[in-house]
This record gives sequence, structure tokens and C-alpha cells, in this order.
Amino acid sequence: MAAPARDGWTVETLHDDYAQALREDRVLYDSETDHQRLRVFENARFGRVLTLDGVVQTTEGDEFIYHEMLSHVPILAHGAAKRVLIVGGGDGGMAREVLRHASVEHCTMVEIDAGVVAFSKEYLPALSDGAFDDPRLDLVIADGADFMAGGHEPYDVIIIDSTDPIGPGEVLFTDTFYDHARKLLTPEGILVTQNGVPFMQPDELRGTMRAFRALFNDWGCYLAHVPSYAGGPMALGWGSMSGAGRAVDPTVLQGRYASAGIETRYYTPEVHKAAFALPGYIARLLT
Ligand code: SAM
Repeated sequence: MAAPARDGWTVETLHDDYAQALREDRVLYDSETDHQRLRVFENARFGRVLTLDGVVQTTEGDEFIYHEMLSHVPILAHGAAKRVLIVGGGDGGMAREVLRHASVEHCTMVEIDAGVVAFSKEYLPALSDGAFDDPRLDLVIADGADFMAGGHEPYDVIIIDSTDPIGPGEVLFTDTFYDHARKLLTPEGILVTQNGVPFMQPDELRGTMRAFRALFNDWGCYLAHVPSYAGGPMALGWGSMSGAGRAVDPTVLQGRYASAGIETRYYTPEVHKAAFALPGYIARLLT
């Protein structure tokens, strides 16, 4: 989809009838990798901004919201997560948050585009903040769909930190992919997914929830408000064969959060529980 041009601005190309624009104060990088077009620029409000194929992936200014909510919610809900799998996450922000948990003994990160990792280390070092050097991290450069289909030791938490279902990300939104993920979970394991902004992309959430309904005993989504993912709250998919994670008692969650000893800027145990309260227009996408 052709991006409406505006000199000195990035006009996002995710929707054909709506676009957010961010002023480019300084372009730091712009190149095609084997899989996608990678561009980074500085913006006065959001700091450094990473776009892939013209779509905002992450910004220094508000990345903490998305990365905290897609990692700490499943890990603290689970309560004893030792093995975590991240699919996507090339910027390293998700690995950074996962590895803040001393209880996590191993984190596999499967990223299709080595260019995003190499580039993020250089231009967005604050995002990974050393995660790529953590001995617990195993970085695999591969298509997440191929990895998920393979036989691996099961995981307590699986995080799909992918682009939207366009280009290489498309395979990460299929029933087959979710079924493979389900089979790779431990009995109490939890799968969480980046599922876009329901007001703007209702079909993305509707499709994932239709698949989760058929695959998981406990399924649904929770919300996070990320300013650079424009158009309202973002939905994060949730699937597990056990209801224990979602039903965790608030005081137990408080205790786990305190014991984890991690300082967060968006996540709190209260926000965690409240995030599962859905407004009508989003709840109706799950029926
Ligand atoms: N936070 C962002 C969002 O919500 O849109 C996602 C950030 S991260 C940059 C998304 C990553 O998914 C990218 O590095 C991209 O290369 C990776 N990716 C896309 N398709 C993939 C696939 N099939 N397997 C593994 N990684 C994939």
C-alpha cells in the first residue's frame, strides 16, 4: 500500500483509510533486509522509532508498555516459569523483560530477520539493554512457524512478539501455528500473542480468538494502551490448557511481583488483573 508522502514525516502504512504520522527529526537507518524494509528515525516525542515495511514496531518512548505487559502478565500468572519462548522480538525488548525474572532459566528467541537483531543492537541498544549477551538466551534465526512445528522441550510461557499478519508475520496467525504452540506448552503453560488494535484491526483479534476457542481450555485476551499503536487499546491474546494462570489470586500476584523484585513503569498486579476486563466492542469480537 503506497504510503501517503509528507516530506520529513513517516506516514504509517498499516491501514488504507487511516494513518498516523511521526515527524522524522533525524533518519538513522533505512534499508531492505532479506525480509522487510527496516527504517529508524528520531522523533522528539517518541525517541528512536523502528518501522518495518512502513509500520511502527517499537519506539523508545513507549516500548516499555507493550514489553512489560506481554512478558510479566504470563510469567507472573504462571508463577514458576523456567523456560520461555519468544517468536519475533528482534529488537530485544521482550527478551530484556523476560530475562529480568531470575526464575527464568532459559529463553529461546526465534527471529526470522538477523538484520533486525544486528541493527537493533547498534541503533536501539536501550531496548535489548544487554539481553543478547545473557547466557540464558538462545537466539535462533529462523521462521517461527518452522521452529514451532519442530520437536522441542516444552515451554512454560510462549510469547508471539511478531509484526502484524502481513509479510513474514502472516504465518504466525494461523490455526496450525497456534496448534503447534499449544503442543509446545507445559500443562500449566501460557501462550500470549500480539493481536493488534481491535478498533482498527478487528479481524486480527477475531481470527486468533476463533482459533484459541477451539484449541485451549482457557482463552481470551487482555489489553494494553500503547500510544504508538494508534487507534485505541491493543489486544494481547491469551491461551492455556489450565485456568490457573488467569485465575491467580490478586494477593498471590502481589507476592510474586514483590518477590520478582523488578521495577516496572506500566505493569502492576492491579493493572494485570484489570487488563482482562474488556469493553463491549472488544468482548463481542470473542463471541
Ligand atoms: N512490538 C512489535 C509489534 O507489536 O508490532 C513487534 C516488534 S518485533 C520488531 C517484530 C518481529 O517479528 C520483527 O523483528 C520481525 O522480523 C519478526 N517476525 C516477523 N515474522 C516472523 C516469523 N515468521 N518468524 C520469526 N520472526 C518474525
